[in-house]
Amino acid sequence: MLDQAQIDRLRLIDTGGFPVLSVYVNLQPGPVSLRNLPARIKDLLAQAEATSESLPRSQRLSIREDVHALSRDIGRFGTDLGHGVAVFRSHGAGVDEQFTLPGPVRDRAIVDDAPYFRPLEAMIEHYRRYCVAVVGRRLGSIFRFSMDQLETWEEMRDEEIRKANYGGFSGYEEQRVRARADEMAARHYRHVADRITELKRSDGGFDLLIVGGSDSHVAGLLAALPPDVADLLAGTFTIDPRTMTPSTVLEHARRVAAEWEVQEETRLVTELFDAAASGSTAVLGLEQACAAVNRRAVEVLFVQAEHTTAGSICVDCERVTCEMGSACSVCGGSLRSLPDVVDRLSELVRGAGGRVQHILNDGPLAEVEAGALLRYAAPMVDPT
Ligand SMILES: [Zn+2]
Repeated sequence: MLDQAQIDRLRLIDTGGFPVLSVYVNLQPGPVSLRNLPARIKDLLAQAEATSESLPRSQRLSIREDVHALSRDIGRFGTDLGHGVAVFRSHGAGVDEQFTLPGPVRDRAIVDDAPYFRPLEAMIEHYRRYCVAVVGRRLGSIFRFSMDQLETWEEMRDEEIRKANYGGFSGYEEQRVRARADEMAARHYRHVADRITELKRSDGGFDLLIVGGSDSHVAGLLAALPPDVADLLAGTFTIDPRTMTPSTVLEHARRVAAEWEVQEETRLVTELFDAAASGSTAVLGLEQACAAVNRRAVEVLFVQAEHTTAGSICVDCERVTCEMGSACSVCGGSLRSLPDVVDRLSELVRGAGGRVQHILNDGPLAEVEAGALLRYAAPMVDPT
């Protein structure tokens, strides 16, 4: 599974001054995007080779080797790799790493003196860690679910409730046996709930909870959870623990998580649009977002995940803009083109302590490309 440790490990590699070619390819199923996959990859590699033309000869040759190697091996971007793939190659430095991505990514090829990790880090930020608990009469199966992968976390089994032969009992005894069974069930729910709570409080932890089982078992477990853990509930599903398999649990977890994420994105985008409509605490549109980022006024930058728009940065006043001219319209300085304005904006927002919210699902944000929630900043006191 993709994690920060893998990125950190790769970051430590000494490239000895050789450039690294980073290629991201979206493999999210969609008739257009997959049919023209080889052509898209060739375009990306051609772009990479073009951008390396200004580099010193040994560096340029290293990139050329990388481009040729990947062109000969387009099959490695196979559609069996999930939703996307990231490849980091440096012929000169002997780097060749590939990551399977749990979600869609924007196509891009970047040549730089270090691997280009921002999309991977954005993805790690985006994916939430779920605890999936399936509860039965005496069973509790707890899974971890994140980045589209499910793994067993804990299996719990409480003692069997003895089968009672009601035939020989009086009404009073029958009642007692039932009460005893209820008590055993309550104890089992509490037991599973306690373990989930411990897992929540432990280092690994989780962000959200999904509970599966029969309606009564799900209700029993939810009632036994402390309020702060119950608040993390993303959704529930119905399953028979006796016949479940990891793949059926995965399917349910995927569906519940996807529904929760769509709702959450809708909620966040609605808040952004409401804030923009009602006052000066938010802006909509890419150029407006650029202006807010240039003022260092952005708390949360909202970007539509697959959109890429070229733009420029002013070499003199460092203003980022969607303008494509040669001279900055504010200071008259010279503009340098950026392949992707949103990437530069994201970097600036993170650098200034803000957050970047990637919106994966199509909605109103797709029409305006970007937006930003602004800081309630007190007027700056000039320190000079
Ligand atoms: Zn300027």
